[in-house]
Amino acid sequence: MKNKGFTTRLVHADRVLNHPQDGAIHSPTSNSVLFEYQDVNELVDVFQGKKLGHVYSRSSSSSNTALQNMLADMEGGIGAVTFSTGMAAISSTLFALLKQGDHIVVSQYLFGNTRSFITTLEDFGIQVSFVDVTNVNAVANEITSKTRIVFTETIANPATQVADLAAIGKLCAEKNVLFMVDNTMTPSYLFDAKKVYASMTVSSLTKYVAGHGSVLGGVLIDMGLYDWSKYPNIFELYQSGDPAQWGLTQVRKKGLRDMGATLPPESAHQISLGLETLALRMDRCCDNALRLATYLHGHDKVAKVYYPGLSEHPQHYIARELFKGNYGGIFSLDLTDDVDVHQFLNQLNTVITATHLGDTRTLALPVASTIFYECGAQERERMEIGDTMLRFSVGIEDIDDLVSDFEQAFKSVSS
Ligand SMILES: *Cc1c(COP(=O)(O)O)cnc(C)c1O
Repeated sequence: MKNKGFTTRLVHADRVLNHPQDGAIHSPTSNSVLFEYQDVNELVDVFQGKKLGHVYSRSSSSSNTALQNMLADMEGGIGAVTFSTGMAAISSTLFALLKQGDHIVVSQYLFGNTRSFITTLEDFGIQVSFVDVTNVNAVANEITSKTRIVFTETIANPATQVADLAAIGKLCAEKNVLFMVDNTMTPSYLFDAKKVYASMTVSSLTKYVAGHGSVLGGVLIDMGLYDWSKYPNIFELYQSGDPAQWGLTQVRKKGLRDMGATLPPESAHQISLGLETLALRMDRCCDNALRLATYLHGHDKVAKVYYPGLSEHPQHYIARELFKGNYGGIFSLDLTDDVDVHQFLNQLNTVITATHLGDTRTLALPVASTIFYECGAQERERMEIGDTMLRFSVGIEDIDDLVSDFEQAFKSVSS
C-alpha cells in the first residue's frame, strides 16, 4: 500500500497491517485485561520482549496495537504509543525521557494545559526556556549541553503563530537534540513531520483524528530520525537490540506502563473509524476556514483576523510551504471595540459556544476568560492573546450556512 494515496492507504490500513481474523476489516476490540498462555515459556518470552503478544491491557491490547500501526503508517514513523488523552501522551513521554537537571526549550505559544504541565516539570528540577518559535535564532540562543528536547506545536492556538519548523528541525539535528512536534492542529494529511526533521510527533487524537467530539485519545510517534544511542537518559535495561527502538521502548515502559494512562480498547476502535475520513474532513475544515476568515477579514465589525491562510499573516509563506497549501481549521478574531463579544457569541446559532477543537461542528470560544484564564495577563500578552479575542474551530458544515450565521449575528448586535 506504500505507493497508494493517503486515504486509500488509511481505509485499508487496519485490514492490511493488522490481518484481523475471519476476513474482518476491523481489528477486534477485546475487553480482557489479562491474557492466558498455554505454555508458560511463551508468557516469559512475551514479558521479556522476545516475542510479540499481550500480557496485561494497561500495557497493550489488540485494538491499541492496531491503532498504533495505522497511526505510525499514516505518519511515516517507525512506531507509535497510544495514550488515554493528548495530555497523557505529552506528560508521560516527557516524564519518561527527562531527568532532573535537564534543560528543554519550548514554545512560548503553547496549548494552555501543556504549558501548565511544563511548569510542573520545572518544579521537578527540569530547566525550561520558553521562546518565540517563529524565530529559529530564539531557539538556537537557548540550546546548551544540557538541552535534551525542543518542543513546539505546528500552528499555535489561539493566535495561530506558525513555528519555523524546518529551521528548528535542522538546528536540532545539528545539535543532537530531540525535536518533538505537537501536530494536533495539522495531522499528517497536511504536514510531513519527516520533512522538518521531527524526531517525534505527539498529538491529541481527540481533535481532528477522531474528529467527532465523542472520544479522547493521544499518541506519540517516533519518526525514526533520531539516534537513541546518543541520548543520555535511556535506562541501561532498554539499551539492547536496535537503538532505533530504544526511545519507544522507554516511553512504553516508563511512560505508558508505569504511569498507566492507557487508551481504552473501545476508544482505540472509535479513533480508528475517525481516522478513515480524516482527509475528507480536513479538506472541508480548511476550505471552510479559509472562506470564513476571508469573509471576516473584510467585515467592518472585525478589527483583526488571525489565520495563516491570509497573506497578511506574518508566517503565511512558511505555512504555505509546510502544510501543503492548507492552513488548518482554526482562526481567531478581534471584533471592533463597539461589539460586545459575549452578546455576539450568544447570537450565533449554527456556531456552537464550546471548548474543544477539530470537530465536525464549528465551535467558538472567548479564550482569555476561559482556557487561557489560569496563566494570567502577563503570559497572555506574551502569547498575543487579547482580552476579547474569540477563537473559532471551523467544522464541516455547508459554508453558506456558516457565513449567514455570522451575518445574522453581526446584524443583531449592530441594531
Ligand atoms: C487538545 C490539545 C492537547 C491535549 O489533548 P487532549 O486529548 O485534550 O488531552 C494537546 N495539544 C494540543 C495542541 C491540543 O489542541
